[in-house]
Amino acid sequence: MIADILGRLGGKPPVALFLDFDGTLVPIRPRPDQARLSPSRRRALRGLSRTMLVAVVSGRSLADLRRRLAVPGLACAGSHGLEIRFRRRRWLHPGCRNAARLLPGVERTVRARLGPVPGLLVERKPCSSAFHFRMATPGGRRRIGRAVRAAVEPLRGVLAPAPGKMVLEVRPALPWNKGDAVREILALAGMQGRHPLLYIGDDRTDEDAFRAMGPDDVAVHVGRNHATCARYRLGSVAEVWELLARLQGRKKD
Ligand SMILES: [Mg+2]
Repeated sequence: MIADILGRLGGKPPVALFLDFDGTLVPIRPRPDQARLSPSRRRALRGLSRTMLVAVVSGRSLADLRRRLAVPGLACAGSHGLEIRFRRRRWLHPGCRNAARLLPGVERTVRARLGPVPGLLVERKPCSSAFHFRMATPGGRRRIGRAVRAAVEPLRGVLAPAPGKMVLEVRPALPWNKGDAVREILALAGMQGRHPLLYIGDDRTDEDAFRAMGPDDVAVHVGRNHATCARYRLGSVAEVWELLARLQGRKKD
């Protein structure tokens, strides 16, 4: 499949490489704060960023994502693209502030409804609250899901629950997704209309970015756990790094 992807790119590196973080560049860990990028992989991303735009688009907050990457020269989009930074340029979706003010109340309501549930981890981000339940029992996961959805229901139209991998996130109900983030990053970099783009991701939220790809772009889904509209698939994080190494090697010949 790696050879197919490289072949589709026509023997040239893409003009821009978009990457999801968790489950794409790092394996999914039981706790989100355990995800780490090794020094050699940091160097690999740095190397790629010298010859193409490299952007990481994640559900993590922008601050958390940038801290974990610690690679200068990358474009970073946090909160599923609601906050973006490229070089000295920062961009925050104007709808975030209003929605963010309501998040503490949602978290209080969820905790009040649930009482103590072992394995629930609540993470506050600038634009959302993430209710992680990877470490909860199956029964606990269902209770958490019900409590979060019930807490958000009265705020429908302003906030919306967004399911992820072992996480239910309460996000601003804005018509904005990772595909919009790709377009915003290209605009910030002054690269609108340039192709081919290469986008690699494992999340359901990456499907929006896959749909935003043009006919010359290449979309790659990582894993086999759900249906995807990406034309190409890689089986694991290790295969993603193999592809990135091949992309880097290619530029030398
Ligand atoms: Mg992911």
